[in-house]
Amino acid sequence: MNVKADNGRVRLGVLAAMIVCGGTAAWVVPGQPASAQGAAVRHRMTKITDTIYRADAPGTPGINSTSWVFVNDTDVLVTDSEGSPASARSLLDGVKSVTDKPVTYLVDTHFHIDHAYGNAALPASVQVIGSDFTRKMLLSPEARQGVTFRNFTDPMPGRIAGLKTQVAAEADAVKKATLQQQLAAAEASLAVYTGNFPLQAPGLTVSGTMSVWSGSKEFRIMWIGRAHTAGDLIVYVPSEKAAATGDILFKATVGWQGDAFPNDQPATLDALKKLDVELVLPGHGDHIQGRPAVETAITTMQNYLREEWRQVSTAKQQGVSPDDALKRLDLTAFSAAYGQGVTPSLAAVRRIYDIVDGKAITQ
Ligand SMILES: [Zn+2]
Repeated sequence: MNVKADNGRVRLGVLAAMIVCGGTAAWVVPGQPASAQGAAVRHRMTKITDTIYRADAPGTPGINSTSWVFVNDTDVLVTDSEGSPASARSLLDGVKSVTDKPVTYLVDTHFHIDHAYGNAALPASVQVIGSDFTRKMLLSPEARQGVTFRNFTDPMPGRIAGLKTQVAAEADAVKKATLQQQLAAAEASLAVYTGNFPLQAPGLTVSGTMSVWSGSKEFRIMWIGRAHTAGDLIVYVPSEKAAATGDILFKATVGWQGDAFPNDQPATLDALKKLDVELVLPGHGDHIQGRPAVETAITTMQNYLREEWRQVSTAKQQGVSPDDALKRLDLTAFSAAYGQGVTPSLAAVRRIYDIVDGKAITQ
């Protein structure tokens, strides 16, 4: 593939030499040889069109997002390396199970743990592309201490303690074995994120729009505004009328908002709406198919974000604490669209307070 800068800066960064430590061994289930587990493809590959696959790994160890695999005439482009080196290796095994063509590009849609923490396991032949902001975050303490990292990792010890209690109490041998597997997986996950686990930032960064060409097929990699983070990228494929959108839009959920900009996201979604897109490929869950469904998903999300911002920022102006603002918050008008996830987390409320106070990292 060739890379061409349109109106964004393109920089070939120095790929830092990373020592991959702990990632592989930590995922080994006791009693089984590592090689046997390494051979298993844990990712589920679902064909969406002739050239696009969804890759996800439900019920497997680790923290995963949904990756999208674009199979071209001579090569492959993938979005998101997922939550750990082991997850990335499993993802690449999944790609190999559907095509012999090499993965040449991987696009980090954003810096979050479940999307970009597998970068370090990618071979040097895979060029990792991300936004300037994603690179900055992955190289900063935020990647190992930030609100999103802690949201994923803080509950792990409690979950492990609960599983240990369940294992001890379970009399049924089959159920006990399943619980023990879950416990081993949870302990392995915690081991990965404890200590100096390997991270790798994208070596090719974009601040505006960059096109990657595979033959005559264009992948337009675009930053279209702040949304789920300050540095989300979308991968727009005009010939397919498709866009991989990371976590800025989902079919049936609002998603985590600990690093989000709900004040800016509606305008960003307007920019998405202006593209000729009939297939949205989100960073979690199912794709959104057909122009009417795409427009409905965008409009619903915009209305939700505007109402969430209005209520929470009003509470802040009135001097209400974030906890009380969350108690007051009523977004049940959107229950049909977002179900039980209609009420955001306390982190989402705190985030809005931080934005109003000018404390959010905006670029
Ligand atoms: Zn995210």
